[in-house]
Amino acid sequence: MKDRIHNFSAGPAVLPLAVVEKVRENLVNYEGSGLGVMEMSHRGPLFETIIGEAEACLRRLLQLDNTFAVLFATGGATNQFSMVPMNLLLPGMVGDYIITGTWAEKAYAEAKKFGEVAVAASSEAERFRSIPKEFRLSPRSAYLHFTSNNTIVGSQFRHEPDANGTPLICDASSDFLHKPLAMSRYGLVYAGAQKNLGPAGVTIVIIRRDLLERCPEQLPIMLDYRTYTNHGSLYNTPPTFPIYVTGAVLQWIEALGGLEEMERRNNEKAALLYARLDRSDFYRSVVDPSDRSVMNVTFRIHDHALEDKFLVEAQARGLDGLQGHRSVGGMRASIYNAFPREGVVALIEFMDDFEQRFG
Ligand code: PMP
Repeated sequence: MKDRIHNFSAGPAVLPLAVVEKVRENLVNYEGSGLGVMEMSHRGPLFETIIGEAEACLRRLLQLDNTFAVLFATGGATNQFSMVPMNLLLPGMVGDYIITGTWAEKAYAEAKKFGEVAVAASSEAERFRSIPKEFRLSPRSAYLHFTSNNTIVGSQFRHEPDANGTPLICDASSDFLHKPLAMSRYGLVYAGAQKNLGPAGVTIVIIRRDLLERCPEQLPIMLDYRTYTNHGSLYNTPPTFPIYVTGAVLQWIEALGGLEEMERRNNEKAALLYARLDRSDFYRSVVDPSDRSVMNVTFRIHDHALEDKFLVEAQARGLDGLQGHRSVGGMRASIYNAFPREGVVALIEFMDDFEQRFG
């Protein structure tokens, strides 16, 4: 078997090796119980402990009090594009959306099906290369929705927008838990696990409990937030394995020092890579410097014709998954929480070498 290589995939993405190794053992025999972790009942005491500890760890990391509920859902972030308006966009009110990329556009388009929506701000005219600094709330705003990190173009909000009393809703799929979050400023945060948190298959939703009063009657059972809050995410069979692995990643974050330490590591990795990009004109970052993502570092080579060669050579050196999203091209290095600093250093060494030969 090949050794593990540097995995720059945007998601599903690299997981901490220590977690993957622990999972491997527990796949066969979970903590000496004699049962494999994928093979146990979601109603049994072992899984109850697994889901309970995952939630408790998340609550400690984010310092969440009981005004918030934590849900483990399925259907990815995309399902939240629908659930948010279905549950929270009351008739007579307006869902406000900040449009900063493809995912925000998709959330907005989905909400349109369920009620009145408005664009609070958009950076589409700049091809999403910046984050809008100002936005407009509707007088009857139901909530303000934004995408904290734009996985495709590689831009990120430095601070959450000030929603001025209207509930702030965040799609944090590609930067959840990359740094401490002031949860008191949010009404709802959701994130598919498969980038910064765990394997594909589970979506974390954190919702301020008072917002549940908005949920209309007669929603399909699995699309109603109250089904999750009333049953501890165990109304039906939840994605037990992804929840287990996510819990293990949360414990890994906590053991390393929590979200402050994640922030320190992530800033360091991103700073190294952006410093390399800015060192010459050979490589170019396309995002406004103040809005660059610390999770998805996108770049081009000034001569686009060299990009295929760059990707082929990178791959041969064990630097995998660097191709940009198919809608924008170029390169994208996804360096989420679990991505090691050594991988960034290896990429920079390769970039230096490639520039020397072709620059
Ligand atoms: N939002 C963002 C910011 C994303 O990056 C993605 C996936 N790349 C999605 C939503 C869609 O997530 P899912 O595939 O879990 O539905």
